[in-house]
Amino acid sequence: MIDRPDRAMVVTPHPDDAEIGCGGTVARWIREGARVLYVLCTNGDKGSGDLDMTSERLAEIREREQAEAAETLGVEEVIYLRHPDGGLEDTSEFRGQLVRAIRRFRPQIALCPDPFRTSFYLHRDHRICGQVTMDAVFPYARDRLHYPEHEAEGLEPYKVADVLFWGAETPDTYVDVSDTIQAKIDALKKHTSQLGDNDPSEVDEFIRGHARRSGERADVPYAEAFRRVQIHG
Ligand SMILES: [Zn+2]
Repeated sequence: MIDRPDRAMVVTPHPDDAEIGCGGTVARWIREGARVLYVLCTNGDKGSGDLDMTSERLAEIREREQAEAAETLGVEEVIYLRHPDGGLEDTSEFRGQLVRAIRRFRPQIALCPDPFRTSFYLHRDHRICGQVTMDAVFPYARDRLHYPEHEAEGLEPYKVADVLFWGAETPDTYVDVSDTIQAKIDALKKHTSQLGDNDPSEVDEFIRGHARRSGERADVPYAEAFRRVQIHG
């Protein structure tokens, strides 16, 4: 278990990943008084099999869906970086965008996908999102001579205490989301374009089943599971 932070930053590769990965945790922490920032890395403009859909229209739809999902959870702000879906790269520009967000919002905890998995192939954007978030936290946001232009804007170096990776093969940290599992499901259902022909009750059961299995390991009805990397105590 991990204490509720005052401020948390969620870095999500695509619209809907954050809700699946940590929506219950976000809802719980916000209910308990935390402030949460989302950074959405890509515009999700490839996530449709609809033959009539265009990337341009899809990006607009998915940005709106993400805004509604974040609002449902009480997220304070969403930063839209709008990199192309499937086109996230480990560049100085992307890393600098995350460093700027960290120095501005000053979160104690950053949450993102676990980039290090061996038994399951990971979407490239998820791998790069997790890896660059970790790099931005340590050492880039900490050291003032990285992205020195931030200092001129009044942004000081900042030490994030912990990174929580969702989707980890070996989770070691659990958040009890028994009181916010419904909020997670409600937020996820705002991503209408991604639900396709799925029966809404199947979405419920998928999410509850997963959280129940994590809950068994934490001895609570429903939990979200993470791998925790402690960086600055
Ligand atoms: Zn994704």
